[in-house]
Amino acid sequence: MAVIGVTGGIGTGKSTFSKMLAEKLGARLFDADAASRELLESDPEVRQRITSEVFAGAYSPDGRPDRAAIRRVVFQDPAAKARLEAILHPRIREAWTRLAGECRETQASLVVEIPLLFETGAGRFFDQIVTVACSHETQLARTAARGLARDEAESIIRNQLPLVEKTELANFVVWNDGTPANLENQAAELAKSLRPSQG
Ligand code: ATP
Repeated sequence: MAVIGVTGGIGTGKSTFSKMLAEKLGARLFDADAASRELLESDPEVRQRITSEVFAGAYSPDGRPDRAAIRRVVFQDPAAKARLEAILHPRIREAWTRLAGECRETQASLVVEIPLLFETGAGRFFDQIVTVACSHETQLARTAARGLARDEAESIIRNQLPLVEKTELANFVVWNDGTPANLENQAAELAKSLRPSQG
C-alpha cells in the first residue's frame, strides 16, 4: 500500500490523472478541491468564520457561498487570501491525514489530489509524489475551455509555485500534453511500478 500525492498546475490534468491512477491501483481517492468546496458549502463554523474574518458578503442570503465573489476578494487582497487559507487548509489536511491513517491501518492505498501540496508543506505525509505537468499553452487552452479568461489564468499560474519546481520536487512527473489515452498509459505504467510485486 502507499499514500500517493498528486499535484501540478491549474489545468494540467491532476483530477483526470488522479482518477485514472486510483482506479488502476484500486486505491481510494481524496480530492482536496472537492473537500474545500464541501467545507464552504456545508460547514457552519467555516461559514461563520469566513463571513467574519474574510469577507462579509461571502455567502448569499440563502446560505450558498458566492465563490466568484470570494475568488475576486482573495485575488485582490493577499491578507484575505491568507485568512481564508488559515480557515480551510487545516481542516482539509485533517480530513486527508485521517483517511491516510485509516488506509495505512487497513493496508489500502490512497491517492490524494492536492493542488497546493508543496505550497502547504504537505510533502512529508506522502510515500510518493506525482506532479502532472504540461506546456503553458496547453494549460491556457484547457482553462479557457472551462471559461476562465486568459489574463485570469495567467495570473493564477504566476501566483502558483512554478510548475518546473513542482516537477523537481516530485518522485514522478507525468507529462500531459498528449491524448487522454496517452495519459492513461502513463497512469498504468506508474501503477505497475508502485505495485512491483504484481508486475
Ligand atoms: P484544475 O487545476 O482546474 O482543477 P486539473 O489540473 O485538475 O484542473 P483536469 O480537471 O484533470 O485538470 O483537466 C482539465 C481539463 O482538461 C478537463 O476538462 C479535462 O477533461 C481536460 N484534459 C485533461 N487531460 C487531457 C488530455 N490529455 N487531453 C485532452 N483533454 C484533457
